[in-house]
Amino acid sequence: MGNRFQVEERFADGAQYIGGRPSHGSSGRSHTVVDPATGKEVLTYALASAADVDAAVAAAEGAFPAWSGATPGERSEALHRLASVLAGQAEDLACAESLQCGKPIRLSREFDVPGTLDNTAFFAGAARHLQGQAAAEYSGDHTSYVRREAIGVVGSIAPWNYPLQMAAWKILPAIAAGNTVVLKPAETTPLTSLMFARAATEAGIPDGVVNIVTGAGRDAGEHLVGHPGVAMTSFTGSTAVGRRVAEIATASVKRLHLELGGKAPFVVFDDADPEAAAHGAVAASLINSGQDCTAATRAYVQRPLYEAFTARVAELMEGVRLGDPFDPSTDLGPLVSHAHRDRVAAFVERARGYATVVTGGSAPGGALAGGAYYRPTLITGAPQDSEAVQAEIFGPVLAVLPFDTDDEGLALANDTPYGLAASAWTRGVYRANRATRELRAGCVWINDHIPIISEMPHGGYKASGFGKDMSSYSFEEYTQVKHVMYDNTAVAAKDWHRTIFGDR
Ligand code: NAD
Repeated sequence: MGNRFQVEERFADGAQYIGGRPSHGSSGRSHTVVDPATGKEVLTYALASAADVDAAVAAAEGAFPAWSGATPGERSEALHRLASVLAGQAEDLACAESLQCGKPIRLSREFDVPGTLDNTAFFAGAARHLQGQAAAEYSGDHTSYVRREAIGVVGSIAPWNYPLQMAAWKILPAIAAGNTVVLKPAETTPLTSLMFARAATEAGIPDGVVNIVTGAGRDAGEHLVGHPGVAMTSFTGSTAVGRRVAEIATASVKRLHLELGGKAPFVVFDDADPEAAAHGAVAASLINSGQDCTAATRAYVQRPLYEAFTARVAELMEGVRLGDPFDPSTDLGPLVSHAHRDRVAAFVERARGYATVVTGGSAPGGALAGGAYYRPTLITGAPQDSEAVQAEIFGPVLAVLPFDTDDEGLALANDTPYGLAASAWTRGVYRANRATRELRAGCVWINDHIPIISEMPHGGYKASGFGKDMSSYSFEEYTQVKHVMYDNTAVAAKDWHRTIFGDR
């Protein structure tokens, strides 16, 4: 799969997947997937048009009655089969993910692919466990119960940073609950979403339940969000695009789920294990080259530990090995594209005007010069209101700031528009408990930062969006609850009719 010709062969039928079949986009425009480690072209494909989106929505609408009418057990079995098909393709999926994103193969093999397999297995089980309040005679005169029903066609839009996992997070809870899906992956990274959809067909999931349209955000993306046949929009991406998506979805009165940007704080109290905190900060700021919505981006360190922490983080960052993503000894690959690398570099160049770049701050040369690489970068002295502390850089860049009191540390941590994730480092149970209460984020770790798990929800507070991915909480997004009420009195004149008829 690392070989360009195999990729071209594998996707020769096009980068769309509609009604259980691959097809070519009909927009008349093409896009080239580039290997960011080398700058070499991997695959040129035709982008989806509005007509392709229409066809995908029609296929999903056509598949909805039978799929939503299948028993939870039947959907569960189909997802178990999907888990097994995906497991058989694990190495191909890992290679495709590393090729299109530049992820180190170790990360693809040990995080992206196993995470996706586990998610699939989780939703195979969860499909049979939709929750609701017990049926009962709450009014006295009626039996009430709830039906948790599928919503219809879900239009999903995913980013490029974890293409396989994002496809899985979007598709699995939706179809487990009986919906059908049209997913638009990022144009730059469509390969593993397409492989996921093909695996669904191989697993016997009916045609039209999972459709992929690979098109540009502005046309295929907006057309999907505004489409009258789409009942719900589920978007993962930047807050800026999320706002636009929200406008369009709201205008057409759709259910909306938004997983947006992050700027996660990493709060180190003075009783923390300094070595654990330093290792944690380096791993959590550099994972996926920092292109992770929950990555540690702002470390606040209580004054007694500040100097030693900064020095140790710089030392550990300097030991991280950049290299060929397909070499298992590589720690850090390139960023997703040269354009994105240049955007990250521009943030750091601007930061030189108001802060100190302690280590990194440049692209490596030599054998890596042709790739979109950027060195792990540590910034100190950036003011709290500066761009380096407030904006989502989405690269291997960590800002470290000191604080004095616990109140101050927690207040600074909460002082950005985002609220996706946060961590606190302390050996004190009261401090830890206070941090979990007061940090305004959808996930708070104590003495760790990054791990996620299928059984637990992932989603933001504040400008990081709303709604949850993964876990049974995601069914709150992908189902609608209907209250059903049966009269038990069998009389014509019900008690409450007195409001109209009085005593007559
Ligand atoms: P992006 O917002 O640029 O693009 C995301 C997707 O939206 C892509 O498929 C893109 O083609 C599409 N898009 C672009 N413009 C559109 C429009 N006008 N209408 C409809 N769709 C449009 O984000 P990105 O650069 O691909 O990904 C990085 C961002 O994703 C970061 O902000 C990151 O924090 C966020 N992210 C969030 C989570 C989370 O769980 N909260 C997870 C992963 C990534």
